[in-house]
Amino acid sequence: MDFLTLTIGKQKNIALIAHDSKKHEMIEWCEANKEILKGHFLCGTGTTARMITEATGLPVKGYNSGPLGGDQQIVEGRIDFVVFFSDPLTAQPHDPDVKALLRIAQVYDIPIANNKATADFMISSPLMNETYDHRVINFHEAIADRAKTL
Ligand code: PGA
Repeated sequence: MDFLTLTIGKQKNIALIAHDSKKHEMIEWCEANKEILKGHFLCGTGTTARMITEATGLPVKGYNSGPLGGDQQIVEGRIDFVVFFSDPLTAQPHDPDVKALLRIAQVYDIPIANNKATADFMISSPLMNETYDHRVINFHEAIADRAKTL
């Protein structure tokens, strides 16, 4: 398989998503890390984004609400870093979208935290202030090869 080197910039595109029972934890986490988050571009699913902005004043670009496709829109955007406080104890109507977001983060080697401890470790990494090169599958090559060989 052929790989490409992509670069995560110093200023990162950070996606913030929290299921309902985790929204207050997310707001507290954003408040606690406000000075760092200010230096990056923030987006999130609709309700999470709105609640973070109202509580902290941080600008967070809001997509649709999660159950209405917001996670899918985030997957389509250019995202470098994800904080996703998901609820492990409640069934979600948009479970396939949640899984899609996790899978795409894995495919594209995107750092993703799904609990507060991981988010704390990630946000305190020296890499937050640096560029970061990572290798992802060269899908253009892969498509050309597949089209020839399948
Ligand atoms: P919400 O969506 O921020 O609009 O509540 C989050 C989710 O459930 O994925």
